[in-house]
Amino acid sequence: MNFYSGAPVHRVSHLRADADWLARRLSDPASRLYPVWRDRNMVAAGRPEDATVRAGYVTVARAAVLIEHGHVVALLGESDGIAHFAVDLSHLDDPLTVPELAEGSEFANLREISPALGHGEAALLAYAKGLMHWHSRHLYCGICGHATESRDGGHVRVCTNADCGASHFPRTDPAVIMLVSRGDACLMGHNKRFPQRLYSALAGFVEPGESLEEAVAREVMEETGVAVANVRYHSSQPWPFPASIMLGFHADAVSEQITVDNDELKDARWFSRDDVRNFEVLGLMLPRPDSIARQLVEHWLKQG
Ligand SMILES: [Zn+2]
Repeated sequence: MNFYSGAPVHRVSHLRADADWLARRLSDPASRLYPVWRDRNMVAAGRPEDATVRAGYVTVARAAVLIEHGHVVALLGESDGIAHFAVDLSHLDDPLTVPELAEGSEFANLREISPALGHGEAALLAYAKGLMHWHSRHLYCGICGHATESRDGGHVRVCTNADCGASHFPRTDPAVIMLVSRGDACLMGHNKRFPQRLYSALAGFVEPGESLEEAVAREVMEETGVAVANVRYHSSQPWPFPASIMLGFHADAVSEQITVDNDELKDARWFSRDDVRNFEVLGLMLPRPDSIARQLVEHWLKQG
């Protein structure tokens, strides 16, 4: 299971539209609120000896006031009979001035702190962040321009214009990420936005009217001029930076010559398995261990 997936809650989607049930859970002292502020998640210090952090939450018993403060309150799900909600505090200049927030908490960039988080907690924060980001970008109806409002426990926004009334659902943008190989070599690129020396699997967004396999082949051709065949699905990873799901593939190259598209990539190269195993010696960096790109590379290494 890839990092950022496997949030430890039942999503109870059949209960989201039950206003009475939601009201009871929002007044249940044991229910948990996970604050999000301007794309940052609340976290709390974990065990100091190993510098871990925990997903930050406050109970309704302690901070029911956050439900009134919250721009959006959205149900994440239930776990052991306890309801978990995300609360958007982005309209506050400084959410830490709310006295009911747990002392010792801070608002952090999930991408920066995720190595210090447990798998399940990172997934829960990714879910909260992704859902709050969607709300923040869909305050107005894309059809008629009127304001929208959150319904069904924060899993739909409905246009307030009675003549329109369109429902808008949370969205996630599909992106393909692929490790292309040929014999004992794989193709990796160095993107302009990457840290220096980092090489990773190629990636790009799926376009309308395009299958995933077509997106894989098009992106590899556009970025490197290499033709591919035999596109095979590996796994997927929620990637809430800000709103994607990464769909991981392996593919076989049917040509070798690389022509780098300089708009996107600075460099692309073929690396043998020996090269990849000795990346550090070569002064190069692999993608971070919590990324699907790294999982694709590790999977390919094991096959050789
Ligand atoms: Zn509308």
